[in-house]
Amino acid sequence: MRKTVARMREDDTKLREVVYAALNEARRAKDEYNAFISLVDGQALDERLSELAALSAEEKTARTLFGVPLAVKDNICWKGLPTTCASRLLDGFQTSYTATVVERLENAGAVVIGKTNLDEFAFGSSNETSDWGAVKNPHDPERVPGGSSGGSAVAAALGVPLTLGSDTGGSVRQPAAFCGVYGLKPTYGRLSRYGLVSFASSMDQIGLFARDPWLLRMALEAASGVDERDATTREREADHLGFKTGMNIGWLEEFSGEKGVQPAVAAGMEELLSVFEDAGCRIMQVSIPEIRHSTAVYMLTAIAEASSNLSRFDGVNYGVRRREMGGDAVLGDGADRLQRSYAATRGLGFGDEVKRRIMLGTFALAEGYYDAYYLRAQKVRTLIRREFERAFDEVDLIACPTTPTTAFKLGEKLADPIAMYLADMFTNPANLAGLPALSIPWGTDEAGLPIGMQLIGPRFSEERLLEAAAAVERKG
Ligand code: GLN
Repeated sequence: MRKTVARMREDDTKLREVVYAALNEARRAKDEYNAFISLVDGQALDERLSELAALSAEEKTARTLFGVPLAVKDNICWKGLPTTCASRLLDGFQTSYTATVVERLENAGAVVIGKTNLDEFAFGSSNETSDWGAVKNPHDPERVPGGSSGGSAVAAALGVPLTLGSDTGGSVRQPAAFCGVYGLKPTYGRLSRYGLVSFASSMDQIGLFARDPWLLRMALEAASGVDERDATTREREADHLGFKTGMNIGWLEEFSGEKGVQPAVAAGMEELLSVFEDAGCRIMQVSIPEIRHSTAVYMLTAIAEASSNLSRFDGVNYGVRRREMGGDAVLGDGADRLQRSYAATRGLGFGDEVKRRIMLGTFALAEGYYDAYYLRAQKVRTLIRREFERAFDEVDLIACPTTPTTAFKLGEKLADPIAMYLADMFTNPANLAGLPALSIPWGTDEAGLPIGMQLIGPRFSEERLLEAAAAVERKG
């Protein structure tokens, strides 16, 4: 993409050609795989392109992502199109502002072409719970693309150069692995969450998909940094080392021999370690004992925070009020009329998985249960974070598979929430610890389905992850 960006700066026709080609791919991704919820209209796009074309040569050079087509997960706000979170509760919801990350990418020259499909409110690992219907995997349309950022992963796989997702427990890396593209979840605090609809605020992070890791780096740089509208944002703490041969690469004792890991995935992991070894790295075993509790800790934290964050969707502050369905007559009069209005809105507007999480999350936070569930989960979370810190005293990077298996069949895990939650067992530890992690495409299994391998690094080591990925890049 680097050369294409340079050519787009010199030639307006090239700029139009590249952006319209991406829009065509997006259209195909929408029609054939249901990967988009909305696409930008031609007139708005033309205006944006004229604006870019009119810049001086100097201004164009300063825009590192000049003309790069960008698709945005539909739980991230962009003024040009509604933000639905794939929930009928927010159908047609128009924001008056754009998320900081999208705004910064646009300032760097990126061109938004559409909003992508997701699991409702980003709750899921298969992109089947969207009120806009399930997304299909382009490698096998009978299989899921992964979730919750399935639409953005599919769009990237089909040729939209840069797409945004959100990753609370794996929602960028897991679909990246299932669709055969790169997926980066940055350090907690590296990217602003302003304009990302909150799910679990202590873990949410906007992440990036691309087939070309160079673009991930450019986009990360353009989007990073302190934002006064998100108090958790930080400048990079130190000028971290990039990747060097001779570094120590760790593999996790607790993940090795894990039941339920597909043999092709386990074999891919062995291969990754031997490629690192060939690149002059030292391979070491590391241990994070408490990681075995990470899915339980993740789910408790996620549902507790979600139950609180989603209380704003009541049909008054946000959301389509379901008056027309309940009707004033049904709501009746009396002091609890307002409560009945909330209940009608939320009862009709939210899907089953969202309701399940709100109810369980409310339970986990209730007086009498808080200590046993939420508080305890936070204590184990602290242990996991500390154990990672200790591990990074010994190794420079940790490698593990992104997912236990390749893409599963549509419908296969829908009736079994626990099986679905376990699809993230290798990705959620990085969210609990706030660490950056990258999923890299790593060949295919015997059925031709993509395999993803994951690199996890210390805080703010994204550049190291991307350089390491380039050093072990697999052809084909
Ligand atoms: N699949 C996980 C969940 O269901 C993670 C979702 C996410 O990262 N947004 O919560």
